[in-house]
Amino acid sequence: MTKGKVVSVNESLVGVEIINGAVINGEVAYIIIEDGKRLKSEVIDVKQGGVVYLQVFEDTGWMKVGDSVVFTGLPLAAKLGPGILGSVTDGLQNPLYELAKKEWFLERGIEVSPLDNTIKWHFTPTVRKGDTVTGGAVLGHVPEKLFQHHIFAPFSIQGSHTVIDIVSVGDYTIDQTIVTIEDSTGNAQELQMAFDWPVKKPMPFYERSVPENPMPTGIRILDALFPIAFGGTACNPGPFGAGKTVLQHSLARHSQADVVIIAACGERAGEAVEVFKSFPELIDPRTGKSLMDRTFIVGNTSSMPVAAREASVYLATTVGEYYRKQGLNVLILADSTSRWAQALRETSGRKEEIPGPEAFPMYISTLISAFYDRAGVELLSDGKTGSLSIIGTVSPAGGNFDEPVTQATLLSTGVFWGLSRVLSDARKYPAIDRIDSTSKYPSLLQKEEVAYLLELLRDGKSISSNILLMGEKGITDESYIRYQKSELLDAVFLQQNSFDEVDGVTDPDRLRLMFDMVKEVIDTPVSIKGKEEIRSHFNFIRQAFLDWNYMKPNEDGFEKQKTKLVNLVKQHEHAPKNV
Ligand code: ADP
Ligand code: MG
Repeated sequence: MTKGKVVSVNESLVGVEIINGAVINGEVAYIIIEDGKRLKSEVIDVKQGGVVYLQVFEDTGWMKVGDSVVFTGLPLAAKLGPGILGSVTDGLQNPLYELAKKEWFLERGIEVSPLDNTIKWHFTPTVRKGDTVTGGAVLGHVPEKLFQHHIFAPFSIQGSHTVIDIVSVGDYTIDQTIVTIEDSTGNAQELQMAFDWPVKKPMPFYERSVPENPMPTGIRILDALFPIAFGGTACNPGPFGAGKTVLQHSLARHSQADVVIIAACGERAGEAVEVFKSFPELIDPRTGKSLMDRTFIVGNTSSMPVAAREASVYLATTVGEYYRKQGLNVLILADSTSRWAQALRETSGRKEEIPGPEAFPMYISTLISAFYDRAGVELLSDGKTGSLSIIGTVSPAGGNFDEPVTQATLLSTGVFWGLSRVLSDARKYPAIDRIDSTSKYPSLLQKEEVAYLLELLRDGKSISSNILLMGEKGITDESYIRYQKSELLDAVFLQQNSFDEVDGVTDPDRLRLMFDMVKEVIDTPVSIKGKEEIRSHFNFIRQAFLDWNYMKPNEDGFEKQKTKLVNLVKQHEHAPKNV
């Protein structure tokens, strides 16, 4: 094993002189501090002359020049197998939930099995002695929470192998050997239910396909106007407090993904801890069971060093790719990717690299695009389809979207949900910009229907600036009606209260029903004269519509409210002058 000793410590960047052997970029090394504890780190720079730089994933406070270092020769890896769902870990896959039920942080230098190796999984083999297998072949399955979890031959296995031994149906831990295989030269290899995969290496697609099926999120403005597809990617930038985190939590609960992975790098101290604590208590509206049954949370608390943020992002992605291989639709929610980028900037600064714009490293856009490129739709060998979607928030300083991280993310993603300070100040949630946001994926509505809504919003915006300029008197009744229609569309359809049980989530059927009603309002000509009368007419409709939004479809009065609404819309022509 290659050994070295610490020669410099600059926060999480540590210089090491090699004593013997060779070191490669990306391999994991342990720094052994005074009390014998081992701090995990990764080689990020190999210099001429036997000096290498490590980024340390743990608190370097107690580290000294002269401490010894051992190199593992292995890259930073995730352990993949049954038991990931329902767990909460840090970026190094240390289970936070199990270890720190109260404190939510880990003591420095502690390493625990990433997956619980005491659980016995009920394994059913699907291969037999004499069968030929290659890397990624399904060897059998175990039930994991809501899913059948395929047990794969490690993806890293090269060439064909023959199964020479396999256990019978029964209960096994992830450490027990379940299959023994042999290559053509007679080399035997024992396989367990879990295996390692280097987190920074994208898992190759069996066959890649284009994301084209919209993923219902329950959020109307997204599903109707700016949809995300299964396997798609989205950039969600917004100033502080505009609603990025609330949106992410809503997506975690309501989007129609099978598996949700939350990569939490919170903006506020303790925000990640809040996620760790609150999610395990949430009920999945779809199954009535714990939401954690289909969730994996990886995150950093503010007490963890910046380098661990990067590890969190890569761990989340690798786990996402693994569950995509299971034939599931996976959604990664990364909040906030700016924190990751800031960590890269800090490390780059310590390495004294030539900085790019705003002191971010030159390669930041390459890293960001490589990250989003790991999303996608995969056609699997058994004919099934899996997908991995990534939705990343970006928190640019001052809400200025021209900065490098927002721009790089924009270029790498298929959806842009720009959060607007003006909308969030007006409490028009979700504060997603109605005009500037974009999506290249298909909507749950027809193309023409989307265009129809967007046209009204654009008209509304331009009439609204005329009103600002000239006052209500300066525009025609006809324009004012058009403006009121666009305001109504915003108020009853685009705005949505995340915190209400009913209004907070809209399924595709209800979205259709609501759209049809909105369309009815928009298409119905209004012959009322006078600004005040027009405004009052739309106020009545808006209130009736909002009341309807808060009703369950199976609730008494739902149909009655709908009829009331239609009547209000239709009565325009005989509307009394002073309603
Ligand atoms: P960010 O993550 O962008 O800093 P948050 O998601 O924490 O902002 O939102 C800040 C606050 O705005 C929330 O605590 C909440 O009061 C309000 N808010 C955001 N989105 C919504 C929403 N969809 N419905 C109701 N309130 C919201
Ligand atoms: Mg936030």
